[in-house]
Amino acid sequence: MNPDHGPLIYEGKAKRIFGSQKLEQVFIEFKNDATAFNALKHSELEGKGRLNCQISSCLFELLESEGVRTHYLGIANDTWMVAKRVQVIPLEVVLRNVATGSLCRETPIQPGTELEPALLDFYYKDDGLGDPLLTEARLKILGLVTPDQLLQIEQLARRVNELLTSFFEKVDLLLVDFKLEIGVNDAGELLLADEISPDTCRIWDKRSIDSNKRILDKDRFRKDLGGVVEAYEEILKRVQGATSNPRFYK
Ligand code: UDP
Repeated sequence: MNPDHGPLIYEGKAKRIFGSQKLEQVFIEFKNDATAFNALKHSELEGKGRLNCQISSCLFELLESEGVRTHYLGIANDTWMVAKRVQVIPLEVVLRNVATGSLCRETPIQPGTELEPALLDFYYKDDGLGDPLLTEARLKILGLVTPDQLLQIEQLARRVNELLTSFFEKVDLLLVDFKLEIGVNDAGELLLADEISPDTCRIWDKRSIDSNKRILDKDRFRKDLGGVVEAYEEILKRVQGATSNPRFYK
């Protein structure tokens, strides 16, 4: 049953955001829609919404327990999350530990190159413009964040990378790269927002050496490898095995 939510505020490709009786909160519904290549490719994957909601919740709780401030408050049911209402900055903050994806399509950097320290890339979140890569100078001109906020975002992203990388390592998963979004609350504080799931992270199974079988993230959908939901199930199983069940928000 859907929680007692308010009106639809925003519908994205994989989630819907609804208001709540409590003005400072929102309900987030995780959808089964899978999209890639700026939504040119689209499918419905039964179970994906639940898996991303649960994985994301476990990871937000892990980060919160380590002192990272996030928008997460709890789950309302299988596919619904309760979060603090924030203004999301239109930036995709990408951290890369191993080169793959757009980095290797757009540069001669060889796939599989270890990136130490992790490469931090900023993209402007705008489907119409195809989410262009930003330089620091372009970021400054856009004025989306102050220099101090930019520093805070970099520190936050690197801290999240440290925590997630070592957590995944314990369950034989390699965090290849991931995307974060940052929200600002009414007090002007930065909070980690959006989701952290196999839709927004590349995660490889360290128990497999096969370059296709080891992929447990949305690349299975992008590359038509099949077994998308099964891969996400495997991630949830390992993540839940190493954390507790997500809390319900009352
Ligand atoms: N990513 C995302 N949303 C986007 C673009 C990228 O969640 O709109 C994630 C993606 O899943 C990967 C990381 O950010 O974990 C880096 O993606 P990349 O720039 O390599 O883009 P792609 O190859 O997916 O086009």
